[in-house]
Amino acid sequence: MSRPVPNPGILDIAPYTPGKSPVPEPGRKVFKLSANETPFGPSPKAKAAYQDAAAHLEDYPEGTSRVLREAIGRAYGLDPDRIICGAGSDEILNLLAHTYLARGDEAISTAHGFLVYPIATMANGATNVVAPETNFTADVDAILKLVSPRTKLVWLANPNNPTGTYLPFDEVKRLRAGLPAHVLLVIDAAYSDYVSRNDYEIGIELVATTDNTVMTHTFSKIHGLASLRVGWMFGPANIVDAVNRIRGPFNVSTPAMLAAVAAIEDTAHQQMSKVHTEKWIKWLTDEVTKLGLKVTPSVANFILIHFPQAKGKTSADADAFLTKRGLVLRALNNYGLPHSLRMTIGTEEANLLVRDGLRDFMAGQ
Ligand SMILES: *Cc1c(COP(=O)(O)O)cnc(C)c1O
Repeated sequence: MSRPVPNPGILDIAPYTPGKSPVPEPGRKVFKLSANETPFGPSPKAKAAYQDAAAHLEDYPEGTSRVLREAIGRAYGLDPDRIICGAGSDEILNLLAHTYLARGDEAISTAHGFLVYPIATMANGATNVVAPETNFTADVDAILKLVSPRTKLVWLANPNNPTGTYLPFDEVKRLRAGLPAHVLLVIDAAYSDYVSRNDYEIGIELVATTDNTVMTHTFSKIHGLASLRVGWMFGPANIVDAVNRIRGPFNVSTPAMLAAVAAIEDTAHQQMSKVHTEKWIKWLTDEVTKLGLKVTPSVANFILIHFPQAKGKTSADADAFLTKRGLVLRALNNYGLPHSLRMTIGTEEANLLVRDGLRDFMAGQ
């Protein structure tokens, strides 16, 4: 019997598993802290723009997302002609892979890097090459060591999900300088809005000064628009031109586009979220450390908590314990972190409950 056969590599892909949908004890309020969504929702202005757009659902969107590219350009000081918008940065990452990778090529990602990268790589028949990390952080020398004549692309989330660690700008520059000129460096800055470190740079400077580096970003995190699927990239003219040739002509819907414009213009909403996140990341890191658990220092909107491997005290045990209380964290087995859980910073109420939950868990109650 014959039937359609997927392209080589497709069936080797482990399907992406999103943050689980919670099943707590009956009567418990549920806090979903498993997908790095903001506890604040989007700017009220973004919601209003989305609702206004409902008046014209019969019209195709403007195909280049011009108003959104212009709003992003104003927010970051970028040329709108060098921006492409997409249905989430997932679409942008896949478009980049589709534009630059083919069978026989290699793309490098890091040991605990974002799982969309290997999927995008393998979907195009290329090989995913995994660079080890040091202290849960991308290691420039380890990446450079793996470069071969087949390497076409390097994926770098900065800061990275699910570890929350980042590379200082000097290290990113050293990575770029060490890669051959024909290798595309993709800097995924999904969490840049949460970072306050003076040795961090979002990626704009490298994009602006090279013709082989792109920076991607998203409206799913600090802007609270994950359900609308809006992301974008800033790149050199040659890459923007190539990617635009395969981009779907109407890939961002009008309601999503207009909500994103309102969101990026509401800097007060972003600032409120950033201040809250910084305060609670510090508090949770301190509190969870006091309970005897290791926490990897994070500059994003989540923390990575490491559990012992003793019976009854493992990350799986903690996950089950917290889930019963309606506290849903993210297990990371398929990120190569089977002994860790990732917790998205939530509301004050949620954060206090997680601390109390972990305290009771460690005390064996
Ligand atoms: C959440 C996240 C994104 C955003 O993806 P969207 O498709 O824009 O929702 C991108 N990269 C990383 C590393 C992320 O964690």
